[in-house]
Amino acid sequence: MVVFCQCGSDKVDIDRWDNARALLKCYTCERTAWVEGFTLGKLDFVEQLFGAILDQARKYRRRNPAERQKLLSERFQRKLMDRR
Ligand SMILES: [Zn+2]
Repeated sequence: MVVFCQCGSDKVDIDRWDNARALLKCYTCERTAWVEGFTLGKLDFVEQLFGAILDQARKYRRRNPAERQKLLSERFQRKLMDRR
Protein backbone atom coordinates (compact mmCIF):
# COMPACT_ATOMS: atom_id res chain seq x y z
CA MET A 1 0.00 0.00 0.00
CA VAL A 2 1.23 3.44 -0.87
CA VAL A 3 -0.53 6.44 0.59
CA PHE A 4 -0.92 9.57 -1.45
CA CYS A 5 -2.40 12.83 -0.24
CA GLN A 6 -5.15 14.56 -2.19
CA CYS A 7 -2.59 17.24 -3.02
CA GLY A 8 -0.65 14.58 -4.94
CA SER A 9 2.22 14.31 -2.49
CA ASP A 10 3.61 10.98 -1.36
CA LYS A 11 5.14 12.47 1.78
CA VAL A 12 2.46 10.89 3.94
CA ASP A 13 3.39 9.29 7.22
CA ILE A 14 1.92 8.39 10.57
CA ASP A 15 2.14 11.48 12.72
CA ARG A 16 1.02 9.88 15.99
CA TRP A 17 -1.03 7.14 17.55
CA ASP A 18 -4.11 7.39 19.74
CA ASN A 19 -4.69 3.85 20.97
CA ALA A 20 -5.94 1.96 17.91
CA ARG A 21 -6.12 5.05 15.74
CA ALA A 22 -3.31 6.41 13.65
CA LEU A 23 -3.08 9.99 12.50
CA LEU A 24 -1.86 10.17 8.93
CA LYS A 25 -0.22 13.41 7.98
CA CYS A 26 0.88 14.88 4.68
CA TYR A 27 4.15 16.69 5.17
CA THR A 28 3.63 18.74 2.04
CA CYS A 29 0.25 20.40 2.73
CA GLU A 30 -0.18 19.39 6.41
CA ARG A 31 -3.51 17.66 5.80
CA THR A 32 -4.25 15.09 8.48
CA ALA A 33 -6.71 12.19 8.75
CA TRP A 34 -7.41 9.58 11.37
CA VAL A 35 -7.32 5.97 10.31
CA GLU A 36 -9.16 3.54 12.50
CA GLY A 37 -9.50 -0.23 12.49
CA PHE A 38 -6.26 -1.01 10.69
CA THR A 39 -3.11 -2.31 12.22
CA LEU A 40 -0.24 -0.36 10.80
CA GLY A 41 2.70 -2.33 12.01
CA LYS A 42 6.28 -2.76 10.90
CA LEU A 43 6.89 0.95 10.62
CA ASP A 44 10.59 0.45 10.24
CA PHE A 45 9.97 -1.83 7.32
CA VAL A 46 7.60 0.63 5.70
CA GLU A 47 10.02 3.50 6.16
CA GLN A 48 12.83 1.40 4.79
CA LEU A 49 10.74 0.44 1.83
CA PHE A 50 9.69 4.02 1.21
CA GLY A 51 13.29 5.09 1.22
CA ALA A 52 14.22 2.38 -1.22
CA ILE A 53 11.43 3.01 -3.69
CA LEU A 54 11.20 6.77 -3.42
CA ASP A 55 14.01 7.32 -5.89
CA GLN A 56 12.39 4.86 -8.26
CA ALA A 57 9.02 6.51 -7.73
CA ARG A 58 10.43 9.89 -8.69
CA LYS A 59 11.30 8.52 -12.11
CA TYR A 60 7.59 8.15 -12.74
CA ARG A 61 6.72 11.62 -11.56
CA ARG A 62 5.47 12.69 -14.98
CA ARG A 63 3.08 9.80 -15.37
CA ASN A 64 -0.52 10.34 -14.41
CA PRO A 65 -1.20 9.64 -10.72
CA ALA A 66 -3.29 6.51 -11.27
CA GLU A 67 -0.63 4.85 -13.37
CA ARG A 68 2.10 5.91 -10.98
CA GLN A 69 0.20 4.51 -8.04
CA LYS A 70 -0.26 1.22 -9.86
CA LEU A 71 3.46 1.01 -10.54
CA LEU A 72 4.25 1.72 -6.92
CA SER A 73 1.89 -0.90 -5.58
CA GLU A 74 3.28 -3.47 -8.00
CA ARG A 75 6.75 -2.60 -6.80
CA PHE A 76 5.60 -2.90 -3.21
CA GLN A 77 4.07 -6.32 -3.85
CA ARG A 78 7.29 -7.49 -5.44
CA LYS A 79 9.26 -6.36 -2.38
CA LEU A 80 6.88 -8.24 -0.13
CA MET A 81 7.33 -11.39 -2.20
CA ASP A 82 11.10 -11.05 -1.99
CA ARG A 83 10.95 -11.07 1.77
CA ARG A 84 9.20 -14.44 1.99
ZN1 LIG B 1 -0.91 16.95 0.92
